[in-house]
Amino acid sequence: MSLKLSVLQDVCIERERQDQKWGVQRHDMATWLVILVEEVGELAQAIQRDNHWGKSSDADNSYTEAVQISAVAAAIAEQLKEEAQNKAKMNDPINQEL
Ligand SMILES: [Mg+2]
Repeated sequence: MSLKLSVLQDVCIERERQDQKWGVQRHDMATWLVILVEEVGELAQAIQRDNHWGKSSDADNSYTEAVQISAVAAAIAEQLKEEAQNKAKMNDPINQEL
């Protein structure tokens, strides 16, 4: 398996874990941004810890945190795509006849 596929597989596993933990999440974009930035902050903490910069942290390792950032970004993309698909359906004349 290529490195890219291996990482994307881990992102998919994390997305499944998120859905099992929280259910399918739908938020306004401001809330999504807060969630994403919180994950970015955890990656920063993990990097600080890995570099022995003296900060204690609950953050997992840097790889796990990067995968979690990717998974949250994927969840945002899923919602945006779903919204675009729903908007397209609403503008479809066939659907308007139903
Ligand atoms: Mg995290």
